[in-house]
Amino acid sequence: MDHFTYKNGELYAEDVTISDIAAEIGTPFYVYSTATIERHLRVFDEALSGMPHLVCYAMKANSNLAVLRIAVKAGAGLDVVSEGELHRAIAAGCPGDKIVFSGVGKTHEEMQLGIEANIRQFNIESEPEMARLNEVATSMGRTARITIRVNPDVDAKTHAKISTGKAADKFGIPISRAREVYALAASMEGLEVVGIDVHIGSQLTDLEPYESAFKKVAELTYQLRADGHDIRRLDLGGGLGIPYQQSNEAPPLPFDYGQVIQRTVGDLGCEIEIEPGRLIAGNAGLLIANTIYRKNGEGRDFLIINAAMNDLIRPAMYEAWHDIIPVKEPAHDAPIAPVDIVGPVCESGDTFAKQREMAIVNEGEMVAFRSAGAYGAVMSSEYNSRPLIPEVLVNGSRFDVVRPRPTYDDMLKRERIPDWLK
Ligand SMILES: *Cc1c(COP(=O)(O)O)cnc(C)c1O
Repeated sequence: MDHFTYKNGELYAEDVTISDIAAEIGTPFYVYSTATIERHLRVFDEALSGMPHLVCYAMKANSNLAVLRIAVKAGAGLDVVSEGELHRAIAAGCPGDKIVFSGVGKTHEEMQLGIEANIRQFNIESEPEMARLNEVATSMGRTARITIRVNPDVDAKTHAKISTGKAADKFGIPISRAREVYALAASMEGLEVVGIDVHIGSQLTDLEPYESAFKKVAELTYQLRADGHDIRRLDLGGGLGIPYQQSNEAPPLPFDYGQVIQRTVGDLGCEIEIEPGRLIAGNAGLLIANTIYRKNGEGRDFLIINAAMNDLIRPAMYEAWHDIIPVKEPAHDAPIAPVDIVGPVCESGDTFAKQREMAIVNEGEMVAFRSAGAYGAVMSSEYNSRPLIPEVLVNGSRFDVVRPRPTYDDMLKRERIPDWLK
């Protein structure tokens, strides 16, 4: 459920009309709903009630400081994957003991900063990384808490680019070698083993892969405890999918996901951590664009809009579907016609939808992309020298620009022509 609905023929974000925001800041822009983000955080909290747990929002999905602040104020932790994200987490006021650090390529500097911030844990993905963290921690006279990410070799049945739990993926260590690697970790003075980590992929629309993976984690917990390790935390990753196509998709509910967790690892006496990203932010955001032209091609109509693949790359990169709706509510009997919705970038890949059946939208009229709150703004670029678009946060009847639109001057000022070229 989200807070973007038509009222009196107009699309609203909570109690603000999209057209009011557009009148003030122009298009295109991203808009996020505070109530929706808060609701999603609460739903996960409730799904894990009865188990000691911490929901660590995977901030790579949407790392705007205001969005992070909502999560922090709701008591959530944050899952970071880079030094930049760690700086953002700290700037948003997240206490170190609620920050987990994931990712396959953590550098010396990133480890040092994480230890200085006294973060909750590093999720270790390989033996060389483990050795490096041990070195860094020892040289600082500290110990770093770790989990080791195991690769359970299950098929998450999701898009290849976002599947991470198969043996051929680059993530984690094979679960078959886990005992050996945990023994090595236990022998390192700078490390304190606190648990196990697993994350099998993103946009999962089926609970079965979770069930298989978590069962393997439970089995491993028994083995590692028998080997003498104090396994007290299980980080089960993120990845629960959202309905991008509301008419025909119904991914599992967080409640049922919570039941799977309860059933598979709930009686191990471990603190449960989860790292949802997409489900927190995805349906809490819209991308709003205006129509530059409606072009009638040969047997095909095109809607050329002022947002492009640089603003929202998911359709080009993952062949992703986004529901696209007019900002002005169409009449019930408005004619429906197929249209290709495209951006102005000089690539055929800059296509958001082909032959999409929708009410006719004309030049100068706005459209809204649903489910654009996750992996939207964070993956945008300035390709074609199109400045990053603004982000707006709505809360009830107020809205605030939480990242302003840069000027062309701002964009040019970042670059230099060397003296010898002047
Ligand atoms: C990307 C990622 C997540 C979040 O995945 P979502 O599909 O957005 O929930 C969580 N944990 C790790 C380690 C990730 O890489």
